[in-house]
Amino acid sequence: MEKNLYKSILRVAVILFSLTLLFSLFYQIPQEPKVLTLSELATKIEAGEVKSLEVAGEEITIVLADGGDEYTSQKEGGVGAVETLTSFGISAEDLKNVDIKIVDQSGFLFVMGVLLPTLLPILIFVLIFWFIFRQAKGGVNQAFTFGRANIHLFTNFKEKITFKDVAGLKEAKQELLEIVSFLKEPKKYLSIGAKIPRGVLLMGPPGTGKTLLARAVAGEAGVPFFHLSASEFVEMFVGVGASRTRDAFNTAKKAAPSILFIDEIDAVGRERGTGLGGGHDEREQTLNQILVEMDGFDRDSKVIVLAATNRPDVLDQALLRPGRFDRRVYLDLPDIREREAILKIHSQKIPLDKDVDFKKIATRTPGFSGADLANLINEAAILAVQEGKKSVGLQNIYDSVEKVTLGPARKSRLVSDKERKITAYHEAGHALVSAGLKHSDPVHKISIVSRGSAGGYTLNLPTEDRHLKTKSQFLADLAVAMGGYVAEGIQFKDISTGASSDLKEASRLARMLVTKFGMSEKLGPVSFDRSDDHVFLGRDMIAGKGYSEEVASKIDNEVELFINNAFKTAKKIVSSNPKALKAIADTLLKQEVLEQDQFEKLIKKFGLKQISA
Ligand code: ADP
Ligand code: MG
Ligand code: ZN
Repeated sequence: MEKNLYKSILRVAVILFSLTLLFSLFYQIPQEPKVLTLSELATKIEAGEVKSLEVAGEEITIVLADGGDEYTSQKEGGVGAVETLTSFGISAEDLKNVDIKIVDQSGFLFVMGVLLPTLLPILIFVLIFWFIFRQAKGGVNQAFTFGRANIHLFTNFKEKITFKDVAGLKEAKQELLEIVSFLKEPKKYLSIGAKIPRGVLLMGPPGTGKTLLARAVAGEAGVPFFHLSASEFVEMFVGVGASRTRDAFNTAKKAAPSILFIDEIDAVGRERGTGLGGGHDEREQTLNQILVEMDGFDRDSKVIVLAATNRPDVLDQALLRPGRFDRRVYLDLPDIREREAILKIHSQKIPLDKDVDFKKIATRTPGFSGADLANLINEAAILAVQEGKKSVGLQNIYDSVEKVTLGPARKSRLVSDKERKITAYHEAGHALVSAGLKHSDPVHKISIVSRGSAGGYTLNLPTEDRHLKTKSQFLADLAVAMGGYVAEGIQFKDISTGASSDLKEASRLARMLVTKFGMSEKLGPVSFDRSDDHVFLGRDMIAGKGYSEEVASKIDNEVELFINNAFKTAKKIVSSNPKALKAIADTLLKQEVLEQDQFEKLIKKFGLKQISA
């Protein structure tokens, strides 16, 4: 900001300097005309040396007949030029050959001639200042409106967004509709004694549409909607957060009924007095100011504060107290049907092939947020363009799912035949174990195209979104994770590093079963999970493990037991179906990718007996 100010001052200085230079180049100091006394003039006229006279007020400009030299002379005011000359003994005869011109003094030119030298510098200064201020306005604006909240009226947004543009999130919309109706008809609610809520906190993982939903409220509300991002509070000068907060609230109050939206409120609303090395004063003051302002609302002041955060866990408890953000709206990651709807919204303007089935894509994208899905469609469109297509096909979208989740395909990576074979058997192992288990999710895709750090992958996905998962399903997952490792061991009598991430994932999962879900028989239904408390450094450093060394070693034993059992199950399935393993691996080597239906057709021939893990 300040840099900009210096820049514009420098620029003005340079311009001034060059102007001066130019001026001095072109402006030649006029030769001082020679001055004649009136008697000298009279003598010259008598001698017939004068060609013309020009009389302007008291000044007489004389042009001589010979070289055209210029002289000036001065006469008395109030007396005519001819009269003056006559008094010097000049006769009318003498003047016959002299042109006499009388210049009217009240002319525009005369006025300008007098005024311009005085006005010009002033004009230049005014221009310069105007220039500096205009320059400064963009950047240094905030320096001049020190402490003023950088508050935006929501109409600033380019496109109006309404609830129609937000897919799913039914409950959240419901809740917010209520708020909108409070603001539209406050009397209806106040008359039966209902209190208008003060604050509504939108919480949910990143990309679930919090900001989007707030914008939709603005579109629906029909009341002024003010928007500011909490990170802006602390962005520029230290010490302005609090006064900006005050200004923002004042602005909203003046416009009441209105909505004030504070996005990313966790930027200032973090729990005070935690964190190492002392708190962040600026943040605390801003937060305190928000609390003060929210308390200061009159009972019937019709301002509703809407805030969004993806870290409700770190918010200061005081913010969540009744009378402040007493309403909370949770935005979850979209479920399968919501994903379908979001995909539809975001592909409205994109030409699609007939084969595009949003349901299938939704099935393949569990855990994707709304933002991920929007991005997915965009990636697919880019892929289609790169392929020279005019519309987006299902395969483009599948490809971009892989690109988004695993990184771009590395077709250029040179893989030796040996490595390809290992990868093929590894992935075939995962898929085979999965097919041989009762409680496993179906295989959606097997690939040995390397992506990111993965050599290949097997995609197991539930057919429906799940909110609960059983122990038998977990055990199946563990066995499937072991499938690659087991297949490599059986086929090559050797193990590669390719299984390392499988093993890591399996250990993590097994530990969760023991410590979080109480699924270990020995330790029973006890949770040793403290991860919810470990939300951030401040508390994490203080909190301990929460259980003894003895329990820790028991946990380790149980984790080991789970892993070993999974290994045994996987081994049983792979070693009793060597032909199926070979068939899958060979097909993979031939065509690199196996889609769900192809895989199911292939495996059917071997009449796999499904067991429980
Ligand atoms: P955040 O919760 O992090 O504030 P945003 O509201 O910024 O997330 O969402 C990012 C983008 O994701 C939106 O601009 C929109 O394109 C897309 N999006 C997220 N949720 C939805 C939804 N429910 N319906 C439609 N689009 C969504
Ligand atoms: Mg946001
Ligand atoms: Zn693997």
